[in-house]
Amino acid sequence: MSTLAPPDPAPSAPPTPLLDVERIREEFPILHQQVHGKPLVYLDNAASTQKPRAVIEALDAYYRRDNANVHRGLHELSNRATEAYEGARLRVASLFGIADPAELVWTRGTTEALNLVAWTWGQANLRAGDEVLLSVMEHHSNLVPWQLLAQRTGARLRFLDIDDQGRLDLSALDELLTERTRLVSLAHVSNALGTVNPVRQIAERAHAVGAVMLVDGAQSAPHLPVDIPALGCDFYAFSGHKMCGPTGIGGLWGRRTLLEAMPPFLGGGDMIDVVELEGSTWAALPHKFEAGTPHIAGAVGMGAAADFLAGIGRDAVCAHERALVGYALERLAEVPDLRVWGPRDPAERSGVVSFTLADIHPHDLATILDAEGVAVRAGHHCTQPLMRRLGVSSTARASFYLYNTPAEVDRLADALRHARKLFGY
Ligand code: PLP
Repeated sequence: MSTLAPPDPAPSAPPTPLLDVERIREEFPILHQQVHGKPLVYLDNAASTQKPRAVIEALDAYYRRDNANVHRGLHELSNRATEAYEGARLRVASLFGIADPAELVWTRGTTEALNLVAWTWGQANLRAGDEVLLSVMEHHSNLVPWQLLAQRTGARLRFLDIDDQGRLDLSALDELLTERTRLVSLAHVSNALGTVNPVRQIAERAHAVGAVMLVDGAQSAPHLPVDIPALGCDFYAFSGHKMCGPTGIGGLWGRRTLLEAMPPFLGGGDMIDVVELEGSTWAALPHKFEAGTPHIAGAVGMGAAADFLAGIGRDAVCAHERALVGYALERLAEVPDLRVWGPRDPAERSGVVSFTLADIHPHDLATILDAEGVAVRAGHHCTQPLMRRLGVSSTARASFYLYNTPAEVDRLADALRHARKLFGY
């Protein structure tokens, strides 16, 4: 009897690339390398994206030519550093449709932006018995700060559930949103499932009961053509390193009226107006929330990343990723025993595809894929409650960006078939 495995089914046809990906890839030096003797396929973009030459060169030029502290120098280099730092704020504000750059506060990233709101707005506005509405799909960064706030204030956390495709179950909104709800804080895009949540619609409902709406934009800012004020939210948090920028820089957008009413977050230099021994007054926005020497080079790099993405066109980036994800869903559906988590319709997803393959542990899967040159993430993706809700300990996750190609999706699918065979399936 033949022991030959049945032939693999004819693969789906790859989509016509919507971006000039070969030209874009030229801008990312790191992509042109071999890993374990195979050309690198980088599919861990939801964790952190790679950086284009323009960002690397902006950092290099800043440190070579302009480096000095900002805002307080009366010399040429300090003036240049200040212009570069504040100029980057204008460029990022423009990318996100923010008309008033004073509403854009630099932070270390999404985590710090969320903690800033919890420690300032939350501390000032929440009392025992008030409620914060979150969802079971939140990243720990949009969960733990509210748990800590609830412990400090006596507020109660409530949670939207998901349906069997990992979409928010909005049928419970009427019951969960009440006059006790002070804040609704939700991911725009789930980092573990890829689900795009209808935050605009939820913001309207939140406002109808007098609640404030915060959007965790860590996974939407890089991938969707987000116009922040048009989302109808009150706060929006994002990270630079997930959108071609450096690590250690990101931002919080907030409505001016809210930011002005909030107490400062950290105290120190730059965030003050007048300091007496017994008390101080605060600097104007956004500096009230930027204590100490900021990550100037990071902001400069972030400005370059904003220009880079604007130059390519965020609608085009989004369309490219949707096409890639659609193709990935087709190719992965051809791998026997593989289960993809999250919405079936690519139009309801961003560039994240989480999967499990038979009973192969996702860590083993990621290690085998790595040996094939394919970089994916495996684990709980900082969403332990979501993993529990799905009934798994972890998943493997491929996440795409503007420089990924249909051929790389094929490499992923081939590597998964290889893993399956290695495990004797
Ligand atoms: N929120 C979501 C949805 C994320 O995916 C992440 C990072 O993976 C974060 C928050 C935290 O971002 P950072 O680590 O850049 O602060």
